Amino acid sequence: MKAKKAQYSQRGPVPQDVIGAVEFELPALAPGQVRVAVLAAPINPSDVLTLTGEYGLLPPLPATGGNEGVGRVIECGEGVASPAVGSLVLLPVGCGTWTTHLDLPAKHLVELPHDVDPVQLSMLTVNPPTALLMLTEFVDLQPGDWVIQNAANSAVGGYLIQLAKLRGLNTINVVRRASAIEAVKESGAEHVVVDAEDLPKRVREATGGAHVKLAIDCVGGVSTENLARCLDEGGTLVNYGAMSGERCMISPRYFVFRDITLRGFWLSQWFKQATPQKRTEVFGHIAGLIAEGKLQARVQATYDLDHIKQAVQAAASGARDGKIIVEP
Ligand code: NDP
Repeated sequence: MKAKKAQYSQRGPVPQDVIGAVEFELPALAPGQVRVAVLAAPINPSDVLTLTGEYGLLPPLPATGGNEGVGRVIECGEGVASPAVGSLVLLPVGCGTWTTHLDLPAKHLVELPHDVDPVQLSMLTVNPPTALLMLTEFVDLQPGDWVIQNAANSAVGGYLIQLAKLRGLNTINVVRRASAIEAVKESGAEHVVVDAEDLPKRVREATGGAHVKLAIDCVGGVSTENLARCLDEGGTLVNYGAMSGERCMISPRYFVFRDITLRGFWLSQWFKQATPQKRTEVFGHIAGLIAEGKLQARVQATYDLDHIKQAVQAAASGARDGKIIVEP
């Protein structure tokens, strides 16, 4: 049986130049494995950085693109009782999801509810737990507490707004362009401001002088310091990305005179450290919220594998209206 995947044999500065669709022959299904037809897989910034070689974890080459996604079981190998043919399953993280088919060990698959949008479920593994864990692992936040974040129109930003609201937390949402404000408000945010030198003043005006305990930064550059300037004395700033491509620029004055703590978060590290019980708890909670329609991300466009170069180019571009999804 013929299948197709988005493969790259080298990394390079222009991500769409290194990836392309290739056909391959599916082998006979091995005992204990199931054959999955991939339904949807997002293109995240980490996928783009993996193609350019700038990510913290790089698979050996040649590799298939894509880190997360969902699929439907179409065949079960010898000895497999579940998941059954027809089951919707979550693909194991890092398995190369931009492909029409994957043969996977049945025991590594998690079954998902049938009546939920597979596109929303395909984004379950990376961004929602990142948003959730940054709200739980660093500062003991109570209902009514304030959190500030930049790139608030990103998928992580949107999940964080929704999760914070469910916990009764207040968010201040910073974007880099006025054209993103409306969409962030539609995702439930009350306070949305454009990043600039006078950010603390405008945050004070918008919130009536909120005492901000936690700042969440995935931009880097001067944006890191702009967030730090909005924090209360003794506040914590968590960096989890560098969308600007610049190092975090922050004056020592915020450490010395304001006792600000600077931390980092990487989901891959959390995966290694968390107990199986904790992982099940986090993903069960997130899957439940997605199934109930309480947690979702905006989607800008979907592409098939024949248009993977256009898909990657779109995902690497700024000023999007949502995620780029591969539907192989
Ligand atoms: P999205 O693809 O949904 O959104 C990208 C965001 O980055 C948008 O807000 C966009 O703003 C902004 N952006 C793009 N280019 C720049 C730039 N040059 N300067 C400043 N901002 C820019 O992103 P995700 O939600 O999927 O991911 C957001 C961040 O979270 C990424 O940095 C990603 O690597 C990181 N991440 C980290 C994890 C971890 O474990 N540490 C796990 C998951 C995500 P605009 O629309 O204006 O272009």
